[in-house]
Amino acid sequence: MNKRTFMKLASLAAAGRWVSRIPISAEEHKLANWAGNLEYGSERLYSAANTEDVRRFVKANPKFKVLGTKHCFNDIANTTTEFLSLGSQNKVIDLDAKNKTVTIETGMSYGQLAPYLDQHGFALHNLASLPHISVAGACSTATHGSGEKNGNLATQVSALELVTASGDALELAREKDGPMFGGAVVGLGALGVITRLTLDLQPRFTMKQYVYENLPLDQLKENFEAIESSAYSVSLFTDWQKQRVNEVWLKVREDVGPSFNPRPQFFGAKLAARNLHPIAEISPENCTEQMGVPGPWYERLPHFRMGFMPSAGKELQSEYFVPRQHAIEAILAVERLREKLSPHLLISEIRTIAADDFWMSTAYKRHSVAIHFTWKQDWPAVGKLLPEIERELAPFEPRPHWGKLFTMPPKELRAKYERLPDFVALAQKLDPNGKFRNHFLAVNIFD
Ligand SMILES: Cc1cc2nc3c(=O)[nH]c(=O)nc-3n(C[C@H](O)[C@H](O)[C@H](O)COP(=O)(O)OP(=O)(O)OC[C@H]3O[C@@H](n4cnc5c(N)ncnc54)[C@H](O)[C@@H]3O)c2cc1C
Repeated sequence: MNKRTFMKLASLAAAGRWVSRIPISAEEHKLANWAGNLEYGSERLYSAANTEDVRRFVKANPKFKVLGTKHCFNDIANTTTEFLSLGSQNKVIDLDAKNKTVTIETGMSYGQLAPYLDQHGFALHNLASLPHISVAGACSTATHGSGEKNGNLATQVSALELVTASGDALELAREKDGPMFGGAVVGLGALGVITRLTLDLQPRFTMKQYVYENLPLDQLKENFEAIESSAYSVSLFTDWQKQRVNEVWLKVREDVGPSFNPRPQFFGAKLAARNLHPIAEISPENCTEQMGVPGPWYERLPHFRMGFMPSAGKELQSEYFVPRQHAIEAILAVERLREKLSPHLLISEIRTIAADDFWMSTAYKRHSVAIHFTWKQDWPAVGKLLPEIERELAPFEPRPHWGKLFTMPPKELRAKYERLPDFVALAQKLDPNGKFRNHFLAVNIFD
């Protein structure tokens, strides 16, 4: 053991940390996020094997961040001090078939949870475009899928256990802790370490996925509501060129909602004759099955398959949520920027999300449309474009995705969240000395 390692271990023991340090993997030069656009400010990543470990770690450290599966594009998860990973805590604690809930450890990803639920006859109401992400990280940032009537993934949460700054475990439940629960679920990593989550379930269901190509923009303008309500979950992929939506992905659930007849034409778009990737140039082998082949909910709701690279890989992402009633105006506002966007864009995606009651949710009290951008990985160029997009969308009070890149000034951002003062007060109560605060939170929420 060299002197440096010995000193580190000695200081670890002195600080009373029983957790183990995770070495940076051989292929990773530095600890970085999934997309590789962000090198984290610390390589000191520790693993906690259970809630007791978490409580000790919380007590022993004045400042640190929990790291989920590292899929955020901005520095919401970043720190210059220490990281705590709950990745090894990835088990189901309890499946309550009678009340249709599951309680899980929070290192679990949807890719680990979903097949288990399916095998036991259950399903979640929705998933994001990829199953690779941790449930706790996704809920903390209001991660969402699509569907007119579908709330984001945080709306599945009915209870949580949070280790707060004192090291005490706080249990919160939807039924008994109304207001505080509303503040805690989309907690942005600011309130504590989530060590347990209980999620609402429904009986497992089968889905079919159909893709249509080249939906004329005029048809979208005229028929937005009809298009969005034509399937359980709808995604519109566009490069904003040629006055059309490149691909319409319809995720059809036959046990609820309208029945879907896969006619050759859909509002002027043509039924695809083969599987497609949202970025048409990329091979669809990474994507979930299309062409109306029936399959379990967890292999149709995401666009990308577990075990495969989701999306493009080397990319950046941004996304803005506007009230659903402004969908078409907002889409046209972005479309006006098409010439500027085009050189830097891989693809855009438009989805709908039902309103919810979580104070810091991007869909708080607003039925929403989310306009998403997958960019080439060129931050100097994208960083110049985002203020223009934000300016065009400003009349519609856009809320940026908490885990993606935005340039909206903090004062403007805060004004979009009427319960922000309550959230700040809750954070101050649970974490009076800012143990869980980082630069992102200091700038955007607390300053
Ligand atoms: C290819 C790709 C596709 C994506 N698709 C979608 C999509 O379809 N819809 C969508 O909305 N988003 C999408 N995202 C964004 C992404 O899913 C979210 O930003 C999500 O937060 C990622 O979860 P994570 O665990 O990787 O988060 P991390 O980046 O690891 O952490 C996010 C935040 O959660 C906190 N956190 C994590 N675990 C805990 C815990 N146990 N206790 C307390 N705080 C915790 C962290 O401290 C941090 O503040 C996509 C991202 C990628 C890379």
